[in-house]
Amino acid sequence: MSMNRLSESAALTLLQRSKTRYKRDIKINYEPAAQDCRTCLTPGACCTDAHFVNVHITWLEAVAMRETLNRTPRLDDAARNRIYMRARATVERYGLRVTHTETNFRQTFACPLFEPNVGCVVHARAKPAPCIQHACYENWEDLPPVEMQWRTEHNIEALNTRVYQTAWAWLSVPVWLMLVDPHGDQTELARLETMWRTGRASWDEHGNVAYRRRTERRRLPVFYRA
Ligand code: SF4
Ligand code: SF4
Repeated sequence: MSMNRLSESAALTLLQRSKTRYKRDIKINYEPAAQDCRTCLTPGACCTDAHFVNVHITWLEAVAMRETLNRTPRLDDAARNRIYMRARATVERYGLRVTHTETNFRQTFACPLFEPNVGCVVHARAKPAPCIQHACYENWEDLPPVEMQWRTEHNIEALNTRVYQTAWAWLSVPVWLMLVDPHGDQTELARLETMWRTGRASWDEHGNVAYRRRTERRRLPVFYRA
């Protein structure tokens, strides 16, 4: 993919397209072998199990989530605020931090986007790739190949790089929600942006920061529960 600069709104459209394609592929080719979530005895356990959930997203995906939360008719202002407050409380409760290393991915939490009786509030338009990939399968051989997730994540990384250059990172969902909270403290994201912009430049003299990060991700625990 060309690394030409892209506006955030153009990138959001491409992000949506990439995820829709991925979702459709999973739904048609793999989901029929998975357990139907409507028959689940512990619905949402996959989203709220704090020993297990380590879903990370990027800046662009956080913006897509914020737009989804803004637009969805299912949420009024009070519900929206509750989600951002839950994100903040989750960051504090689980001590989630922004780090440069893989330890970031070892941080787990109960996802603040799970609403009891509703489910995932970004399900339709802004679901993270590991959550699209995830379902409960009886047989390991029915699982979608993890390369599908990597391919989508590679697209996501390329889009982030085209919008923010080196100034973005994979961070946990609650941390990113806190950073893009419209009523939150905008200075924290500005501070991180500067840090990323200056600190990342030396990681790869070819400017191929995104690829390097994907390689790191390959060794990380995957969002599966069989
Ligand atoms: S993915 Fe699994 S744990 Fe989560 S709701 Fe569906 S069946 Fe239940
Ligand atoms: S983003 Fe949605 S699907 Fe993913 S863990 Fe959170 S509530 Fe669950």
